[in-house]
Amino acid sequence: MEVVSHEGQFIGRGLYNPQSAIRVRLYRWDGGALDDEFWAASLGAALRLRNQVLDRGGPKSAARLVFSESDGLSGLTVDRYDRWLIAQFSSLALLDRRATLIRQLLEQTGAEGLLCRPDKTVADQEGLRGLDEEVHGSLPNAPVEIVENDLTFLVDLRAGQKTGFYLDQSENRLAAARYCRGKRVLDLYCYTGGFALNALRAGNAGTVLGIDSSATAIELARMNAVLNRLGAARFEAADVFDTLAMLRTSGQRFDVVIADPPKFAKHPRGVEDAIKGYLRLNRAAIEVLEPGGVLVTCSCSGLVDRALFADVLGQVAELSGRPIQILEQRGQAPDHPVSASCLETEYLKCVICRVGV
Ligand code: SAH
Repeated sequence: MEVVSHEGQFIGRGLYNPQSAIRVRLYRWDGGALDDEFWAASLGAALRLRNQVLDRGGPKSAARLVFSESDGLSGLTVDRYDRWLIAQFSSLALLDRRATLIRQLLEQTGAEGLLCRPDKTVADQEGLRGLDEEVHGSLPNAPVEIVENDLTFLVDLRAGQKTGFYLDQSENRLAAARYCRGKRVLDLYCYTGGFALNALRAGNAGTVLGIDSSATAIELARMNAVLNRLGAARFEAADVFDTLAMLRTSGQRFDVVIADPPKFAKHPRGVEDAIKGYLRLNRAAIEVLEPGGVLVTCSCSGLVDRALFADVLGQVAELSGRPIQILEQRGQAPDHPVSASCLETEYLKCVICRVGV
């Protein structure tokens, strides 16, 4: 459909979904049609960007190839893990056009197979029904190996969280590792060991302890440690808050604490609770941090913006009576670009700070 101004002047061409909170998603502003040729060109542009900014085309490499609005493809996310693609459709309009999009993706990337994984929360919001897993081409049954920053990780394409791996933190893991030389590192919400193993390999950390409530994630984290011969890594399946309370009472302290929790704010009305959550988490985290230690704290809630998150850290400093100095304010990796015309595409904050006495 065409979107026009009050004066009837053409603004853009989009696709309409009365069931969705996003009624019209715009794709084209030049008056052209939303035809196969247009989708192919949009995908081609997204793939070219990854080739331009990332050196990740080789065997076992992984990258986000398409990031929804950031690539002008609102409602489609595609990640590549070695020779396979995982696609998530979050708009009805693109889901209806998936035959074309999937064929184009397979052709343009030369991938062996593609798995369409439904995202349940978004599917409900968009009124997407009958959205099942779909395999195109061939897909391995066992977890696949990818290499990130000289480390091998196993990724479960079918059952892993999100699309299998948190690619958006790739560069932040290296940045955090720079503070870990010889240190005792605590990796909270460690999933399959991304930050922990980078801290050991790139950072030469002394010891690392990773905590995650998902037993299957911890199992993969342990396998990843073995695969990379990083015997100093310990991973435990446990709740972060329980663990922090236990570590505090038993007097265990760390030089670096990393906290990368799941999204706390899923709706605008959830922002207040999310802020309380970040306050509680970061206060508890610094209680097990040595004076002068480094806190790497993340938030992937787009609704809590950078300024608000920094403000939370100010409150943490005030409430705990320990000064916090922000050393680095980081964001998502460049294969998750931020569209200057749609700033909601900026969601990841990774703040590295020093916490005083
Ligand atoms: N840091 C990870 C990604 C973390 S995603 C990486 O670099 O790959 C958030 C993780 O938090 C998920 O793995 C989820 O299982 C875990 N999680 C959610 N709630 C939790 C809780 N209360 N305690 C421990 N882990 C939790």
